[in-house]
Amino acid sequence: MEIACLDLEGTLVPEIWINFAEKTGIEELFTTTREIPDYDELMTMRLEVLKKNGLTIDQIQEVIADMKPLDGAVEFLDWLRTQMQIVILSDTFYQFAAPLMAQLGYPTLFCHNLTVDDAGNITEYNLRMPDQKREAVKRFHELNFDCIAAGDSYNDTTMLSEADAGILFCPPDNVIAEFPQYPVCKDYQQFRAEFEKAQAKIRESK
Ligand SMILES: [Mg+2]
Repeated sequence: MEIACLDLEGTLVPEIWINFAEKTGIEELFTTTREIPDYDELMTMRLEVLKKNGLTIDQIQEVIADMKPLDGAVEFLDWLRTQMQIVILSDTFYQFAAPLMAQLGYPTLFCHNLTVDDAGNITEYNLRMPDQKREAVKRFHELNFDCIAAGDSYNDTTMLSEADAGILFCPPDNVIAEFPQYPVCKDYQQFRAEFEKAQAKIRESK
């Protein structure tokens, strides 16, 4: 039995921070894991920018409330869950993801947590553990599941390498160039075909 380990932002929903950057016009917030592979460095920068501009969690949640899954993502998930178990492995935070999960039919989500003070300021971000996407795949392997991992960005590449098969979905050119071993999908039709291929290959090898 396989588990699909899916990234969230850039794979099923738009980038939350990019949407927030567009709303606020703050240039630094356009930076994502696509440009800065070190997630700690990226999040520390984001929290400093929020503090400097006096922005609270309420303003971020307002932006997220208006967001929709990427076109075709819901249908893709509906198909995928007829084929295998789905777990979303994301570096977002539960406080951000809730409205988007409702639109995706509440798939299982493993992500991180924010510490928010009474005034709504985000004072800290708490990672469940370092490299949780890869660690999750390792744990699923210990439970004798095969894993097909898919994502769009740097923060997915360790889980892709740990999985039995890895797939890139609409990645930026620098990720394609650095990780040529993974098939690249440009839409959900190709994504579905790659999942079918990966599943068939895993089953053949048994
Ligand atoms: Mg992503």
